[in-house]
Amino acid sequence: MTLCAVLLALCVLLFLLMRLVLSGREIKAESCTPAEAGSIAIRTPAPTILDLYAYFDWTETTTIKVYDHRADKLVDMDLEEYIVGVVSAEMPAYYDFEALKAQAVASRTYTLYSMAHGGCHTNPDADVCTNSKCCQAFSTHERMQNAWKDDYANNYNRVAQAVMETAGEVLIYDGKLCDALYHACSGGQTENSENVYANALPYLRGVDSPYEDPMREEDVDFGTDALVELIAAKYPESGITKDNVRDGIAIEKAYESGRVETLRLGKTKITGKQARNLFGLRSTMFTVAWTEKGIVFHVKGYGHGVGMSQNGANGMAKHGSDYREILFHYYTGVSIASYGADGITEQATPAPESTGNPFVPEG
Ligand SMILES: [Zn+2]
Repeated sequence: MTLCAVLLALCVLLFLLMRLVLSGREIKAESCTPAEAGSIAIRTPAPTILDLYAYFDWTETTTIKVYDHRADKLVDMDLEEYIVGVVSAEMPAYYDFEALKAQAVASRTYTLYSMAHGGCHTNPDADVCTNSKCCQAFSTHERMQNAWKDDYANNYNRVAQAVMETAGEVLIYDGKLCDALYHACSGGQTENSENVYANALPYLRGVDSPYEDPMREEDVDFGTDALVELIAAKYPESGITKDNVRDGIAIEKAYESGRVETLRLGKTKITGKQARNLFGLRSTMFTVAWTEKGIVFHVKGYGHGVGMSQNGANGMAKHGSDYREILFHYYTGVSIASYGADGITEQATPAPESTGNPFVPEG
């Protein structure tokens, strides 16, 4: 399949997705930053791209409308060019090449899924925006140059190649696009979607992430006075004081992954996510210990823990996995679909022993 065919096919996909958007049949929902924790429902139902493909129209282009929140302007951009900017911003360019490719597929899938759900929810005219608090993070060429300096050309080419080599590839489950959430580091175990968001999705199951590199462990400590002040300001009903604080804080329930489900705070209890926000922790995978001076939260991982761990993807790549194996590991039961002039011409599914040709002919 030629790149040209892929791009043409993407035109169709985008056109159809936009038709859905314009027709108002999409389910509007809040966007979230996949690499940063969210507290919202995962958007459902998933767009059925295999069905949409029947409406093919070659005259459309792959141009999408990107709102640059720093420059405050709407920019027309080719989808794949946009994905290069996203991968540049969402994953370090020095990560293993296969991890960059996995990121490109995840980001492309996430983008199209978002577009089918109304696009950027803070900028109605835009398909996506560059604000990581709303859509995915994005680097312009200027930002790449500032960040990478002398390495700009090498890094840009590396990321662009990862995007190009996976052009048009998306993750599907049961014939539908996936909400391809990802996060920086799982701490060794990813999380079931329903433990972070409102709904359980079959491809967002908690899995081992054995090669986190690095694990991003950190200790966050608070002196007793500061701790009590913080809790009393946000949760006065807890009744936490300097006298009872040591007995008043305890992890009440944890998920199998080790992430905190509920934390007792005196007379009240809060969720792990609320605790993460309150204490400014990188994740909800934490333990509590006391020192003479106060409390220490030992935290593992970075982010919500759902979907692909970027550090884990890099670790898997370093241990010999290709991007498909990485994606199949973190997104349970998914396939990789590519679009071309003849429809879906390739469909990669996990091989039983992952040694043979991963492509299984359609139908
Ligand atoms: Zn946005």
